[in-house]
Amino acid sequence: MGKVRTRFAPSPTGFMHIGNLRSALFEYLVAKSNGGDFILRIEDTDQTRYVEGAVEFIYNTLKLCDIHIDEGPLEGGDYGPYTQSERVDIYRKYAEELVEKGEAYYCFCTEERLEKLREEADIRKVAFMYDGHCLKLSKEEVEEKIKAGVPYVIRQKMPKEGTTSYEDLVYGRISVENELLEDQILLKSDGYPTYNFANVIDDHLMGITHVVRGNEYLSSTPKYLLLYKAFGWESPEYIHLPHIVKEGGKKISKRDGDSTFMDLYNLGYLPKAIINYLALLGWAPEDNQEIYSMDELIKKFNVKRINNSPAVYDIKKLNWVNAHYIKELSLDEFKKLVLPFLEKEYDLDKKSNEWLDELLSIYQNHISYGQEIVEEVRLFFKDDIELDDECLEFMTSEGVNETVMEFRNQIEKMDEWTVEKISEAIQNTKEVTGNKGKLLFMPIRIKTTGQMHGPELPDTLHLLGKDVVLDRLK
Ligand code: GLU
Repeated sequence: MGKVRTRFAPSPTGFMHIGNLRSALFEYLVAKSNGGDFILRIEDTDQTRYVEGAVEFIYNTLKLCDIHIDEGPLEGGDYGPYTQSERVDIYRKYAEELVEKGEAYYCFCTEERLEKLREEADIRKVAFMYDGHCLKLSKEEVEEKIKAGVPYVIRQKMPKEGTTSYEDLVYGRISVENELLEDQILLKSDGYPTYNFANVIDDHLMGITHVVRGNEYLSSTPKYLLLYKAFGWESPEYIHLPHIVKEGGKKISKRDGDSTFMDLYNLGYLPKAIINYLALLGWAPEDNQEIYSMDELIKKFNVKRINNSPAVYDIKKLNWVNAHYIKELSLDEFKKLVLPFLEKEYDLDKKSNEWLDELLSIYQNHISYGQEIVEEVRLFFKDDIELDDECLEFMTSEGVNETVMEFRNQIEKMDEWTVEKISEAIQNTKEVTGNKGKLLFMPIRIKTTGQMHGPELPDTLHLLGKDVVLDRLK
């Protein structure tokens, strides 16, 4: 086999949802695990969806995710141009070649006629399919109409019998009865190709060996195979990826407010973690390893281990993976990640650098994504704390007051405010009151932080400072 070549073919819509990025990643992994090339192709033939700056956005996203492009609009390469709108002449040439071969035809049907056909299909409760009306036109009639400037499309001529099948590397054998295939439009009246046509022309001309994409294309792929056959070209391998669904089975979508890559990035998720998590959406290694660098993914990736059942997007799992990567950051890197969130919410000028470093080194082990730090550390920035019902309820337990009073006693006489001394004070409180476990720690924690959970109590108290602790223990 020659060199493996895969392509990521996004439409420039201005955002990249999780499914798009997962496709890019798997395309990248299929190429790189086989020593192949990864190509970026911009599919911008639907001009109504075009968004300014979207291409730059795609580049930024791939760069953040450590996905390197071998050939593309900016990189160039031997198979360009890599932007579909710059290839319109190519599509036209091939569409006309198919007409010559008798595998496609000009269609001059008006929107009104098609609308009428759709209504009739509706009434008969059958799926609308173009009826092949313009197939009957003679060569002369076609030429006359074109000369007269009548708008037209070019349609693929589908066989009316037989089946078309292929072997998808994830889903196995896929077959479709040819009579169910519509004479689909290849070239639109504005001269632009449809996706259905352009993807075939480009994948062939760009020497793509493995087409990796979402499984919404699984059942239309036979139509593309008929195009390959009509041209006498060899078709690539197909790897369709399972849908990404939410708990409950609903497909993930931006329209439903589901996060895009940038949403996650802006919340302080690390691209490395997102990539690691996405790799596990539909793919599983033989062992149960869950943490992967890109290099490890490239080493371990194997198409055979892509699963064809829907992959469930689980934010808790993503948080777990992200928390892992956050713990691995240096303090400086962590600071860079969370400082913008803190600065936006709090006045940090009043705090010393030392204090901030101490806060961050403690909370680095306690958050799953950057923005989460804001709520986690609020207790250090507000004047008063309010107790919720659960805390209030706990504070009615017997023995609580003794712990609080004795601990206050203990720290009043402390002359040095260090984590060790604070631990000692807690220990002394235990000895004097005889309270231990929850009854020892919880009253102190609740009174000083307003929370029932958090980092180590002595660390937290140290950060709060003696005055604040004494004040809150009142
Ligand atoms: N432009 C298509 C999309 O964004 C690409 C599908 C494919 O990879 O063939 O869905």
